[in-house]
Amino acid sequence: MNLTYESPWTSDDVRIFRKTIRHFIQEELTPRQSRWREEQHADAESWTKAGGIGMLLPDVPQEYGGGGGSFAHEAVVIEELARAGVHFGSSVQSIVARYILVHGSEEHKRQWLPRMARGEIVGAIAMTEPAAGSDLQGILATARREGDHYVLNGSKTFITNGWQAGLVCLAVKTDPKAAGPKGISLILVETKGLAGYRVGRPLEKVGRHGQDVCELFFDDVRVPASSLLGPAEGKGFFQMMDNLSYERLSVSVAAVATMERAVELTTQYVKDRTAFGKPLIELQNTRMKLAECKTDSHVGRVFLDDCIERFIKGQLDPVISAMAKYWLTDREFRTVDECVQLHGGYGYMIEYPIARMWADCRVQRIYAGANELTKEMIA
Ligand SMILES: Cc1cc2nc3c(=O)[nH]c(=O)nc-3n(C[C@H](O)[C@H](O)[C@H](O)COP(=O)(O)OP(=O)(O)OC[C@H]3O[C@@H](n4cnc5c(N)ncnc54)[C@H](O)[C@@H]3O)c2cc1C
Repeated sequence: MNLTYESPWTSDDVRIFRKTIRHFIQEELTPRQSRWREEQHADAESWTKAGGIGMLLPDVPQEYGGGGGSFAHEAVVIEELARAGVHFGSSVQSIVARYILVHGSEEHKRQWLPRMARGEIVGAIAMTEPAAGSDLQGILATARREGDHYVLNGSKTFITNGWQAGLVCLAVKTDPKAAGPKGISLILVETKGLAGYRVGRPLEKVGRHGQDVCELFFDDVRVPASSLLGPAEGKGFFQMMDNLSYERLSVSVAAVATMERAVELTTQYVKDRTAFGKPLIELQNTRMKLAECKTDSHVGRVFLDDCIERFIKGQLDPVISAMAKYWLTDREFRTVDECVQLHGGYGYMIEYPIARMWADCRVQRIYAGANELTKEMIA
């Protein structure tokens, strides 16, 4: 963080929460990183431990098992994970919880939110398909109503938390004949022991090796009709658009925290490393480049904090959240790339955190709506 600037949404309660989260990540999650990378997913014990200290669903009301905080608490979790370079799917857990909180029935909230908050059940959001990513209206997965059940068929790809997902918020066509977005619905699928449901091996990614991103397959899967999210079929596309601000804000929080950490790490590195008989920091180009990175990360921080404050007040415009997602993730990659350059060859060695950061952050410009789509929305 910055010595002279503290986010205006920080309160004593948020400061104490940050201390707890930072300590937990250092003690419990960081030491497990090499195992997660080998196995390509986090372990079940980490989820329940995270639930035990209040790291999961911190912005969900206490009556549903959450922390009873605001998005400030969620932002703290995302920032601390990003600073530590730990990719743990807690923010996807929060995104799924938000779908349930905003659009679910009272029964849905009581059935799933407390277990998600305790880390007993891991959530995933499954929209993308092999032939439909940006253009979600083109999804092919279907849910056919049969009496008191829906019968699900189709496949999803690139699903974060997919390997361990006990609850999938699934985008399907309930009316394949309906034009545009009207035939799409979201269905909450509890996966344990579910006949016809199958998960593919975690996909091999460029970065974020400790996090599971998988294909999911549904072959005549039967779920109760009460699993439909919302009061009626055909609302799914609008629910997804409605939730995008939350998702894009979460991505933006990670972007700024990553930029700040990259600048910190690089500042230290160029003070320690010498070339031509003096520390790299004494080269004018190094100082200029770092000054640019620092300025970008600070401008990004102030913009982000404004977005967070607006969100907490219920006033974050979807266009502003699209601006934040596009601009902050573009700056994030540019900053981290510049920091790799200032590290020289060591910046390309995986044992240096900046190298991992570079590989890990590239996807931020692609998911949660590719940046080109967010610009279309702004335009
Ligand atoms: C690590 C990772 C995690 C993910 N997690 C999830 C998840 O948990 N759940 C989930 O549902 N999905 C997830 N995704 C999928 C992600 O949301 C999609 O990859 C993304 O929406 C882009 O879709 P696509 O890959 O099909 O690309 P396409 O839709 O084929 O687009 C390819 C490119 O074309 C351009 N483009 C597309 N449309 C437009 C347009 N209208 N205007 C201008 N340019 C355009 C953009 O440059 C875009 O990047 C994840 C992906 C990755 C890589």
